[in-house]
Amino acid sequence: MVTKKCPVCGCTELVPYQFAEYVISEFRPFMDAFMCADCGRIEFYAPEDRRKKCVETTRAKNAEEKEKAAQIELLESQLAELNAELERCKAIANDENQTVKAVREAEASIQELSEKIRSVQDQLSQLKSRNTSFFGAIIHH
Ligand SMILES: [Zn+2]
Repeated sequence: MVTKKCPVCGCTELVPYQFAEYVISEFRPFMDAFMCADCGRIEFYAPEDRRKKCVETTRAKNAEEKEKAAQIELLESQLAELNAELERCKAIANDENQTVKAVREAEASIQELSEKIRSVQDQLSQLKSRNTSFFGAIIHH
């Protein structure tokens, strides 16, 4: 355990300090308070379990955000490809010089591509609206 030291006077005798009256029986402070025995300076420290939880939660959240950003990037590039393909098929479908067969194939592809585009757009909007609840995660553990 790290030795706690008063940042004002350097005294190493820090005694637990109760910074609030525990009026509610379930009240549990999220920090330990220590008072310098010499000058009265009060220092706050995160209790070990809470410190670990905060660090873990933050790291997990950052990893999740990174993963989410990568997924969004992938879906957006898929969407761009699908849209380009859709434009290509539309051009064929509207081209009078194309054979009936080519136009039919293009029309079928347009249908299929439109469904894929809708599906990718849905996934994207779901991802973008999903918020990682940082504070919720801390409070509810
Ligand atoms: Zn002190």
